[in-house]
Amino acid sequence: MKPFIYDYTLEELQTWVKEQGEPAFRAGQIFDWIYVKRVTDFENMTNLSKSLRTKLNDSFQFVTLKEITHMKSSDGTIKFLFGLHDDHAIETVVMKHNYGNSVCVTTQVGCRVGCTFCASTLGGLKRNLTAGEIVAQVVAAQKILDETNERVSSIVIMGTGEPFENYEATMNFLRIMIHEKGLNIGQRHITVSTSGIVPSIYKFAEENTQINLAISIHAPNDKLRSKLMPVNRRFPFEDVMKALKFYQEKTGRRITFEYALIGGVNDQVEHAEELAEVLIRMDMLAHVNLIPVNYVPERDYVRTPKNEIFKFYNALIDRGINATIRREQGHDIAAACGQLRAKHLESNAR
Ligand code: SF4
Repeated sequence: MKPFIYDYTLEELQTWVKEQGEPAFRAGQIFDWIYVKRVTDFENMTNLSKSLRTKLNDSFQFVTLKEITHMKSSDGTIKFLFGLHDDHAIETVVMKHNYGNSVCVTTQVGCRVGCTFCASTLGGLKRNLTAGEIVAQVVAAQKILDETNERVSSIVIMGTGEPFENYEATMNFLRIMIHEKGLNIGQRHITVSTSGIVPSIYKFAEENTQINLAISIHAPNDKLRSKLMPVNRRFPFEDVMKALKFYQEKTGRRITFEYALIGGVNDQVEHAEELAEVLIRMDMLAHVNLIPVNYVPERDYVRTPKNEIFKFYNALIDRGINATIRREQGHDIAAACGQLRAKHLESNAR
């Protein structure tokens, strides 16, 4: 199978064009065709010689995302289920905010991390996506927004998969996204979210980027976190916190702590107090994002009542911790990660 053109960073493409005996600037022209003009046929790259177009055609292919279905929420959120070349299906979500449009991308087909509140992990990990398959999701979103002259202004890597278990592809995806000759998305408008893969957090700290980091923390201590997230047995709570502190010292960037509130499990005021204590003890520049969990039929979790959510929130605020309650988007279309794909797999199995 030919590699995907979207897999290549500008620097990698420069190396390739030089190997073909062409000047390096041709790579910039190719980037312009694929990311600014958004063509998907090498033949249309009319400022390149015929022979270079033929070489491109012989060496690369475009990622074809086949739309299996999409659902549109009353708040404008659109959730896509795309089919890949090998018939796996992935979800991508386009969200409309008053400050712009964001895309939530998937980095793996399925996931092996096993968070107990997540539908994406139910069938385990099927395979990693390539950088180009992640890029293609943003290009697809941008093409839809082109119809109304809008642009993708931010990206969240919070779809299916653990991006730090597909580290190199995720980093190449990010390099392509932020490149000024590519889609040119501002680094501070991109957030990568991890379940706490400690070695990758240290690596990411050294990447020297302005990209935001979010940690799915979901519990204030080791014992409870291990119950909710088996990954915590591999990378215990304190080790995750130490890695985050290292990242913060290295980058000076505030970290988002994602906390899914699960009724009767991790949503008591004591949990909020304990989390605040940890963040204060570690002197962490933190923002806690409280997420009322979506009901996952396969799991036995219930939603936290609204008044309890506010009690939890106030307990953080009272201790000087910056916190917000996530505004739910696309709730009416099952926007929780993995649910559309799970339904698709179920109907295929029938
Ligand atoms: S929440 Fe993310 S890391 Fe956890 S199982 Fe789901 S996809 Fe994987």
